[in-house]
Amino acid sequence: MRIPIVAGNWKMNKTIAEARDLVNALRDDLTRLAADGRVQIVLCPPFIALPEVAAQVQGTPIKVGAQNLFWEAKGAFTGEIAPTMLTGWCDYVIIGHSERRQYFGETDEGVNKKTKAALAHRLTPIVCVGENLAQNEAGETAAVVRAQVRAACAGLAREDARRIVIAYEPVWAIGTGRAASGAGANAVIGETIRGTLAALYDAETAQAIRVQYGGSVTPKNVAEFFAQPEIDGALVGGASLVAADFAAICRAAVR
Ligand code: PEP
Repeated sequence: MRIPIVAGNWKMNKTIAEARDLVNALRDDLTRLAADGRVQIVLCPPFIALPEVAAQVQGTPIKVGAQNLFWEAKGAFTGEIAPTMLTGWCDYVIIGHSERRQYFGETDEGVNKKTKAALAHRLTPIVCVGENLAQNEAGETAAVVRAQVRAACAGLAREDARRIVIAYEPVWAIGTGRAASGAGANAVIGETIRGTLAALYDAETAQAIRVQYGGSVTPKNVAEFFAQPEIDGALVGGASLVAADFAAICRAAVR
């Protein structure tokens, strides 16, 4: 059985002090929800707040994730963060978020290198894929998502592929308040994402890999996504910044 995973992507929000306040407001609720292992909950603050958040959730089942990494171990890469700088603070790392692809030139090749670097350092990559509005309207969703999954997994052995999490995040749904339908996301995840994984590896591997939905998930619409058989949780942006909303979304995952 795949355990659902709900991750909160705080993006470029929350100072260290604000991060502390948010975790304080969430910690007890999330600890109770994650205690029996029916859901994995991951908080992904900005890099600078990682040590603070990691310290605050120490001893609880709440996990911490980064929002990016660089694939090199160290060196002259001004402004970048190496995997070894994350291990110890984090268990997860978001890779290839559409905002990184769109604003920071992240390529499929870079996503693949980052995925391998994360795995090599025992970090679980949450690899984001998804089509933009023009691609969606042109009927290119399956082709775009298939290509992104293939690229992210290039050169990954089956055992490594089983350790990744994929987030299906249609770009047109991120931060827009216009979520995909549960059935629509379920179809892309089942047919395109798991179909591609089955072709790359095998049906059992395709079934074992956890695939989340992300894009304007709220307490109001979350049940529709968690009711879908192919969807194993959510990657949550805006709603993860509001303690009551994120707790409600996590609660829905264990119903
Ligand atoms: C995201 O940042 O990955 C995301 C899905 O954002 P939002 O929930 O705000 O659409």
